[in-house]
Amino acid sequence: MHFDVVIIGGGAGGLELAAQLGRHLGKHLGGEHVLLVDRFPFHIWKPTLHEVAAGTLDAHQEGLSYPVLARRNHFSFAMGEFSALDAQRKTITLAEIRNGDGELVVPQRVISFKRLVLALGSGSNSFGTPGIEHAYLLENVRDAQRFHTDWLSASSRASFATDRSLSIAIVGAGATGVELSAELLEAHAALLQSQGSAQRFRLDITLVEGSGRILAGLPERISEQATVALRRKGVNVLTDTRVVELRKGTLVTSNGEIHADMIVWAAGIKASDANAALGLEVNRINQFVVDDHLRTSVPDVYAMGDCAACPWTEEKTVPARAQAAHQQATYLARVLGALQREQEVNEAFQYKDFGSLVSLGDNKGVGNLMGGLAGKNFFVEGLIAKWMYMSLHLMHHRAILGSVKTALLAFARLLQQRVSGRLKLH
Ligand SMILES: Cc1cc2nc3c(=O)[nH]c(=O)nc-3n(C[C@H](O)[C@H](O)[C@H](O)COP(=O)(O)OP(=O)(O)OC[C@H]3O[C@@H](n4cnc5c(N)ncnc54)[C@H](O)[C@@H]3O)c2cc1C
Repeated sequence: MHFDVVIIGGGAGGLELAAQLGRHLGKHLGGEHVLLVDRFPFHIWKPTLHEVAAGTLDAHQEGLSYPVLARRNHFSFAMGEFSALDAQRKTITLAEIRNGDGELVVPQRVISFKRLVLALGSGSNSFGTPGIEHAYLLENVRDAQRFHTDWLSASSRASFATDRSLSIAIVGAGATGVELSAELLEAHAALLQSQGSAQRFRLDITLVEGSGRILAGLPERISEQATVALRRKGVNVLTDTRVVELRKGTLVTSNGEIHADMIVWAAGIKASDANAALGLEVNRINQFVVDDHLRTSVPDVYAMGDCAACPWTEEKTVPARAQAAHQQATYLARVLGALQREQEVNEAFQYKDFGSLVSLGDNKGVGNLMGGLAGKNFFVEGLIAKWMYMSLHLMHHRAILGSVKTALLAFARLLQQRVSGRLKLH
């Protein structure tokens, strides 16, 4: 099997790239130019994983099937786990797929390429903390669904227990930890409403952060507003508290022990250890080192999104954010489209930071918008910030579905929520 462009990873960046390139190159030739590979059969936009975990978003309704997206956007799709790269022969290997009984379903496949794009994303960073196996992670849809199932059963247990309480500790107060805290409180309120007074229980959330403030990567004003909002909702926000060990039901921290029925690890970012074995240059968190044209250390192999360390300023690399993956997808679509026509784009990739928005549940958000009028930095909060936050998800859908289908999908989901309620209870 051969494709001109093979993209591995159908996430926030890789899927947008496949859709743009497919529409550009594959329209008249039926999708044999561009191949997208992913280990899952359907796509969920990663910034919504905390909603899947809380049950305020149903992954099966929200998930967009890759084969359908491929047909509509004129690219091909192969489901499989990327397991090896032969840079000399210009081939990749996808591992065999077996079913739950261990029977072979799809054999190992070797695919040759002219150009390869790695868009493999990243996970959290345990920083070598002992006992990490006692924590839930939030790295993919499977993790989020597992947490959701267990939190529903822990909630049922709590509502029949003598103390009628459930404690959840979230380690790491970046966007993931902050948004998950707020979303769980919202899900808890909806759960109590649907269960009635006989099954009431208290939800105690502790958000633990090693540095001096939550959302440490964002401007101080955003951290302050988010801290006030979370504390007002009853979240126990602990800063300057480093987690040194996890035990079943306990966090051992630099300031003492914290009991928690469930622990979620949402700290740091790190790309897969497997990246270091591919023969490409990687940094200390396993990101592929790329130049300002997103080229790795091997010719014709590019990397983008969270798995790439791309130069930004003198000291910093481009941050691991959905908006960076989106901008890199647009850039690479232009570069690879031109190369297919045997032209070249000399212009380097330049990341533009448009600011950050964080959801605080209850139709509230907080954030900053950069580079607006006269290059000023605007602070936004409340409902406006929440709407802007939601519009980022719609923009991602628009890039892969087009405007009309995005509007239809948003309307269909609104109707579905009216009929079935917002919280997924099964
Ligand atoms: C809960 C949460 C909230 C977030 N909120 C925000 C936010 O508000 N704003 C923001 O800008 N960013 C946010 N982020 C970060 C954002 O999601 C990432 O920066 C973005 O998704 C990166 O895009 P990507 O394409 O590089 O990787 P991803 O979107 O992670 O996609 C990687 C893809 O690669 C596939 N893959 C990985 N390894 C393999 C393999 N070996 N074989 C086959 N397929 C493979 C995966 O299945 C996945 O589909 C959030 C992240 C989380 C977890």
